Amino acid sequence: MHSKDTTCPYCGVGCGVTAQTDGRRLIAVEGNSRHPANRGRLCVKGANLAATMVNDGRLLRPVVDGREVDWRTATDEVAARLRAVVDVNGADAVAFYLSGQLLTEDYYVANKLIKGYIGTANVDTNSRLCMASAVAAHKRAFGEDVVPCDYSDLESADLIILCGSNTAWAHPIVYQRIVAAREARGTRVVVIDPRRTTTCDIADQHLAIRPGTDAALFNGLLAYVAANGALDHDFVERHTEGFAAARAANRLSPEAVATLTDLDLHQVLSFYAAFADTQATVTLFSQGVNQAANGTDRANAIINCHLATGRIGIAGAGPFSITGQPNAMGGREVGGLANQLAAHMDFDETCWTTVSNFWGAPNLARQPGLKAVDMFDAIHDGRIKALWVMGTNPAVSLPNTPKVRAALARCETVIVSDCVAQTDTTAFADVLLPAQGWGEKDGTVTNSERRISRQRRLLPAVGEARPDWQIICDVAISMGFADAFAFTAAHEIFAEHVDLSATNKATNRLFDLSFLKGLSARDYADLEPVSWPPQERPYAQRLFSTPSGRARFVPTAHREALQQPCPAYPLILNSGRFRDQWHTMTRTGSAAKLFLHSCEPTLQIHPRDAASRNIINGDLVAVRSAVGEVRLIADVCDNVRAGNVFAPIHWNDRFASMAVVGSLFESAADPISGQPESKHAAVQCRAIKHLTWARLLYPAELDLDRLNGCVALRYWAVSPGQDRAAFQYEFALANSEAMAELIELGDALCFQAGSQLRLLGEHSGRPWLLFTDDQRERLPPFSHLQHQLDADVPDWQKLSVRSVVRRDQSPVVCTCFEVTRSRIEQAILAGHDDLPALGRELKCGTNCGSCVPELNELLARLAVPAAVAAR
Ligand code: SF4
Repeated sequence: MHSKDTTCPYCGVGCGVTAQTDGRRLIAVEGNSRHPANRGRLCVKGANLAATMVNDGRLLRPVVDGREVDWRTATDEVAARLRAVVDVNGADAVAFYLSGQLLTEDYYVANKLIKGYIGTANVDTNSRLCMASAVAAHKRAFGEDVVPCDYSDLESADLIILCGSNTAWAHPIVYQRIVAAREARGTRVVVIDPRRTTTCDIADQHLAIRPGTDAALFNGLLAYVAANGALDHDFVERHTEGFAAARAANRLSPEAVATLTDLDLHQVLSFYAAFADTQATVTLFSQGVNQAANGTDRANAIINCHLATGRIGIAGAGPFSITGQPNAMGGREVGGLANQLAAHMDFDETCWTTVSNFWGAPNLARQPGLKAVDMFDAIHDGRIKALWVMGTNPAVSLPNTPKVRAALARCETVIVSDCVAQTDTTAFADVLLPAQGWGEKDGTVTNSERRISRQRRLLPAVGEARPDWQIICDVAISMGFADAFAFTAAHEIFAEHVDLSATNKATNRLFDLSFLKGLSARDYADLEPVSWPPQERPYAQRLFSTPSGRARFVPTAHREALQQPCPAYPLILNSGRFRDQWHTMTRTGSAAKLFLHSCEPTLQIHPRDAASRNIINGDLVAVRSAVGEVRLIADVCDNVRAGNVFAPIHWNDRFASMAVVGSLFESAADPISGQPESKHAAVQCRAIKHLTWARLLYPAELDLDRLNGCVALRYWAVSPGQDRAAFQYEFALANSEAMAELIELGDALCFQAGSQLRLLGEHSGRPWLLFTDDQRERLPPFSHLQHQLDADVPDWQKLSVRSVVRRDQSPVVCTCFEVTRSRIEQAILAGHDDLPALGRELKCGTNCGSCVPELNELLARLAVPAAVAAR
């Protein structure tokens, strides 16, 4: 057995992972107790990494125009196609679309090739979708994209404001650190979010603002601190500029803020007073702030308040943008965004000359390229003719996916490097290049607190998969740039990246990794997590990265969202993450356990909006916007405001028939950051009634194209069953006769009981089970079907409908020990009325801790009433 330290490939928390392998397989993972980000903890996604290391569905060999070829042929072909487009249409007809999943070394050479050698800055990344507004705000305020906080600040803060962040689900280990700090020192927590999320479990105050009014709330806060003696005059005077203009632009009274945000005045005043009175305040913000048409202004409105109170560059205080992806920050460091050059440099003459000389680049791009949304528009209208997508799935994740897919279909040359063979994007590829996945590749990532950690190779690569950096270098060499891309290992690229960053030494820029200069291959292999700048926290000396050395206030105005509701589309759609899934499921979709918490795409809708549309819990709902439609299962709850609905971003066309939520958003973006407005679309909702529902446990994946050809099919969703030995399908059909159309029944045994149909059949010597019913809630849960198939002699034929209905249908709350909500509720009502007692009784909450907020919610709802009733 071998043990190696590496880094989790999911969110921007960047947890350290210790992996055990037998040389061929990943046997187990656990949190690395020495890693400063997580100190041994892992959330449910990290804890299930081993389950995602499956070889099914991997892209194994290069493919050109549908034909498997060797690597030499593939790289020469890519080089020739890119060269041909440049020769005929110019460099700006080429674009790269990268991913926050790439390692820093991959990002570095991709950026170097396209900007330095192909000669265009048309290189952007899916990180544009999650934190570009924060980047733009940092640059406006500090003169450089620097996150001024680290996680330890959360442990020394007295007030933590979580704005637009469902931290409990999206950044679980940061959340757990906040929970621990709160227990230890009574930290006050304010959650600002239109939705009541699981994060509200620890909120002393939840401000359920009207969507899109974050800037108004913080603009009003700036006015409040100025009017109520909370300004740090000395800091503002000596270390900032532009206060008067920002103040003049922000004269909102608390009353006006209350009206705009739809909060009670006392809520606004209470929040403002808490901020004004608490020096050690961290404002942690995420996608709810960034993914807006005024996302940059929102982030600057937050930063303004910290500058006004001097709460930056000191322990326990600061505006803290937290990234969604494992290496969004690394991508920012090497210039993976279209509007950056490299090493935090811009396109001004001095920076351009520095980078051009350093790279010896004959052809360095002179100006910023097209950002993600504009890039795909340019592909759509034919200005960009060759696109190379690396490690991401824009056909699902970008807004207005119908247009994105049309653009991909029109593009003359689409190259996709990925570790997965079939994604919604690989379907459009002319050239497919097999990339190594997590656990196979080697390099570095930088997390949300600027900490660089190693991702280490754990296992041999599958098939002929190669590291992304090597694929890029091979293409560059084939294009004639051998001298600049003669890297033979990731550490050589890292060394060049370090050397380039060291040119910042003579400037105000903080990004300077020269303390890592001269690392040998051995040093790099053994590199422990390290953050920059190495000596002290950013801006501890009150010297910012601007030409004047002063931080800049930015006048920010409240603006309404671009995609406004109207009579035809009266509801506001918000989108976000579920607890146990990641992005477009290309990785987490392999792990059966990660579907236990939520196995299908749902739509949270307020009871009032549901009632007015005759929608009940579990109904199939058609959600339409001006640009697209999805079909989701209704989750009627008051976690969303009336007039708002919420849907998860994860489901792609491999896992559900029509659930790509990006298809509902228009191509609206922040004009400064280019970040799409992914939290605010105008939609209508309608229940699809009179359906026959079916649940099928099948020992193989069905041909989904064939399913989509079934005219009576209204909906399907699939998830892997236990150990991926079977697949769980849920269907909704317009009529029961269509069932025969749907699957090959063969010699299936068929039993009818009331309105229920039960079928038992065989596929390749392995049984399958299917239940249908005109009432979805009467279908047995998949766990029950599995139980029947697992029985030596299936006794399912003896089951009465009543016994099926009695089975536990409630969702799994604790994924680690597969504990359902109803078991937890029963335990609470039986007197296990706190977390330790529940843990002793059911083990729930005793492993990764991801379910603890939901356990607390249930305890809060049930334990106190039960105790009162008992008295
Ligand atoms: Fe991975 Fe979870 Fe840590 Fe994020 S919080 S890095 S998903 S283990």
